[in-house]
Amino acid sequence: MAGLAETPAPGADPGTGPDTGPGTGPVIAIIGAGIAGLLAAAAVAPHAERVVLLEQDSLPAGAALRRRVPQGGHVHALLDSGLGAIEALLPGFAEAARLAGSLRLPARSGWRFHDGRGWSVPYEGAPAVLSQSRCQLEHLLRIRVLRLANLRLLTGRVVALSRGPDGRIDGLRAQTGEGGPLALTADWVIDASGRGGASAAWLEGCGAPAVPELSHAPHVGYTSLIVPRAEPDAKACAWLRLAQPPATRGLVAAPIEDQAWIVTLTDRFGAVLPTTPEDFAAALRALPDPELSARLTARWPEAGLGPVRRFQIDRVRLRRVGSADLPAGYLPIGDAIATFNPLHAQGMSVAALQAGALGRAMAGLRRSGPGAVQARYLAEAETLARNAWMIGQAVDLAYPRLREGAAPEALRRAQILRAAFATAALRPDMARRVDRALHLLDPFSALWQPAPDLHLSPSSTRSELSHETTDHGAALGSL
Ligand SMILES: Cc1cc2nc3c(=O)[nH]c(=O)nc-3n(C[C@H](O)[C@H](O)[C@H](O)COP(=O)(O)OP(=O)(O)OC[C@H]3O[C@@H](n4cnc5c(N)ncnc54)[C@H](O)[C@@H]3O)c2cc1C
Repeated sequence: MAGLAETPAPGADPGTGPDTGPGTGPVIAIIGAGIAGLLAAAAVAPHAERVVLLEQDSLPAGAALRRRVPQGGHVHALLDSGLGAIEALLPGFAEAARLAGSLRLPARSGWRFHDGRGWSVPYEGAPAVLSQSRCQLEHLLRIRVLRLANLRLLTGRVVALSRGPDGRIDGLRAQTGEGGPLALTADWVIDASGRGGASAAWLEGCGAPAVPELSHAPHVGYTSLIVPRAEPDAKACAWLRLAQPPATRGLVAAPIEDQAWIVTLTDRFGAVLPTTPEDFAAALRALPDPELSARLTARWPEAGLGPVRRFQIDRVRLRRVGSADLPAGYLPIGDAIATFNPLHAQGMSVAALQAGALGRAMAGLRRSGPGAVQARYLAEAETLARNAWMIGQAVDLAYPRLREGAAPEALRRAQILRAAFATAALRPDMARRVDRALHLLDPFSALWQPAPDLHLSPSSTRSELSHETTDHGAALGSL
């Protein structure tokens, strides 16, 4: 290895890492210590001799917002599948999160949403959302992952991948603040550089062909504020009033650690959102639901309010890594593969599921060889991202302007999803199917395979929904 002076990760504990040693596996470099990079490290460390994690930000000691992860100031929900995947990689994580103030909120009862007609109706055994700030979640992951005995954290900005004479990616080049240019040799490079990373430029720079991608333009604006919460954790639930097309304005209020709400106002297609706490307060007071307004502003402005933060997501993309001609030795994960409309809360969970797939693929390295490991992982990682992508796109296609140019099968899936949503309002069995798909516990296709029995008992039919449900029933039934 040329160059990089490796420093032990803060809090490194040589006694708690996996049972590995020199010569027992590959050297793996990971670009980015965000959610995907940390989970990738947890997944591959048991199969590696050494893992080197490169991060351009100086990582904070606690749960703090980072410069290169500005989305960290907005509501970040972890789906049931995401928590399950993290727990499988880092046993005990869910309990540690609970002790640190994360709240586990079952869909429809604790994670409540308004469908334009009424608040969601609970049912037994619903999947649950883990609610906390993204900074807190990342901090809890860092505590666990940076303790791995065969992991080293380096602060540096990766500028290029390097490729050996056989065409395999054999390392990377980085720039550190003080140390200047550095080179690192590795058997595998995992790209967890996120939405702000330079993956396409790195691949082009080492002569690899461009990765084909799908894209979609949801045009979502977020504006968020953390406000104090009066309700104790035991009574807290999240309130989502997502925009029902053609309306564009929505609200997500999620209880998080430290007796706070993170409140996010969303809008579409460039509409103006509040930029000051005063305007934000005015928007909350004007909600069509006085009880919810009162909850969110109960302790306002008794404690100091944080800044109002903005984020704009105009375009999202899915890189078709499963069918791309990627160089050997290169493994992307998380937002480096796909970005999503954040309203569907999928990115972190997809990254966690991909990390699980990565660990399973790496476990077969000795048996099946590096080519098979890469092919298996990339196919599974794309499938996981594509499933979430299709769900998000199907929800977004409720807006007529987003339907222009959409493929017929995407429009069909959108119709099916609307049918399933409407039926779920009346039938707990369909609510369960919908929630399991939205939580990425079952594939999207589980909404229509096997075809649901759409008989609605008279007692369960809400009169105002009956006409729509019949139409949607036809959509589902015709599959
Ligand atoms: C407004 C908003 C709200 C969201 N809400 C949710 C939600 O509710 N639920 C959910 O699951 N997901 C949500 N997401 C998505 C979620 O933030 C990401 O999908 C998830 O964090 C996975 O990100 P990642 O680790 O791949 O990338 P990132 O979090 O972007 O991390 C990438 C890391 O790589 C580092 N890096 C980049 N380039 C280099 C380089 N050259 N050298 C060294 N380091 C580098 C960066 O500094 C960063 O630390 C939201 C996203 C947005 C924008």
